[in-house]
Amino acid sequence: MDGIYLDNAATTPISEKSVEAMTECMRECWGNPSSLHMTGQKAAAKLEEARDIIASVIGATPDEILFTSGATESNNLAIRGLIKSLGKEKTMLVTQETEHPSVRETALALSSEMPEVLILPVDDEGRLCMPDDCLFRDSLIPVVSIMHTNNETGRLFPVKELCEKTHEAGGYYHCDAVQAVGKMPVNVSELGIDMMSASAHKFHGPKGTGFLYVRRGTPLKNVTFGGEQERRLRPGTVDVPSIFGMAAALKEACEGMEEAALKMKHLKELLLKMLADFGDIHVNAFGEDTSPAVLNISFGGLSPDMLLYALDSEGLRVSAGSACSAGSLEVSHVIKAMGAEKYGAPIRFSFSSSTTEEEVIRAAEIVRNVVSRL
Ligand code: PMP
Repeated sequence: MDGIYLDNAATTPISEKSVEAMTECMRECWGNPSSLHMTGQKAAAKLEEARDIIASVIGATPDEILFTSGATESNNLAIRGLIKSLGKEKTMLVTQETEHPSVRETALALSSEMPEVLILPVDDEGRLCMPDDCLFRDSLIPVVSIMHTNNETGRLFPVKELCEKTHEAGGYYHCDAVQAVGKMPVNVSELGIDMMSASAHKFHGPKGTGFLYVRRGTPLKNVTFGGEQERRLRPGTVDVPSIFGMAAALKEACEGMEEAALKMKHLKELLLKMLADFGDIHVNAFGEDTSPAVLNISFGGLSPDMLLYALDSEGLRVSAGSACSAGSLEVSHVIKAMGAEKYGAPIRFSFSSSTTEEEVIRAAEIVRNVVSRL
């Protein structure tokens, strides 16, 4: 690979198994799975095989999986489709400041159309600040959308507890689990999640493909209109090769998950140890309830754009935050919500099962040299 890639929260390299599964499917199962003839039905069988694999690794049943173009679409469909089904005037939406823009911007867009949209704050460690009674408002049904793992800091949210609170209040819980699925065990039944979004390119699958888990019985209406694919909830010709590639990638990621998580934890600790004694740094979100795959460090007195360019020119591929806002190089809404702008330039280092110890050691050396120079 060209350079040291520590930006796996933005996207991961596609796995060989996923490429093979997709290539075979593109050659052999290119039919339209909605066609009733044998060419179509061959593709339909592959699609259902993928649905079975995905359902089994997240503790769901196949009819609870809807295929989408990725988590942005899944998040939009989950929130808008649920609120549409329950009735805008009867619901309140509850989310939090450090969500991905596909949740946060959806909430902001809905705020002028609904009686109540609550965007909860986080503390300076990125932990959710949730008043006990906030889900009980004027007999509104709470629709809660709070992520599993933050994509910029790795902060884990207490999903099981939040599901319980939401259900006690008679509501529904949607979880953006993009940075968790394929990296740590996520069982929708054990957690009690009603809907969950995931994206293939975050677990070594192809881009432009994802899924939405919808617990049986959850009221959901379509927000786009077209054919009858994906139970009418997500119309449009289904991309079977990419979906099959996603299932292959997820199966592979889950089989090696325990080992990969231990390895990433070690790499995260190693990088932190190699940078800990070094100048003016601050770790944004730290401790047990953070993902082993993400380490976010602010470097005091530096500007993020200058630091990023310098690291990139030395061959280290990292980012200042979410890839979705990284283009602007402004301090992200996540860092702002944590009040962490004061600590300097935030850099996100994110690992995957294919990151090596040598890469992390070299990355630490590059960071030390570049930061000293700047
Ligand atoms: N949610 C989170 C937490 C993410 O990290 C991302 C990807 N940056 C998304 C949603 C959007 O996923 P996709 O790229 O599949 O639209």
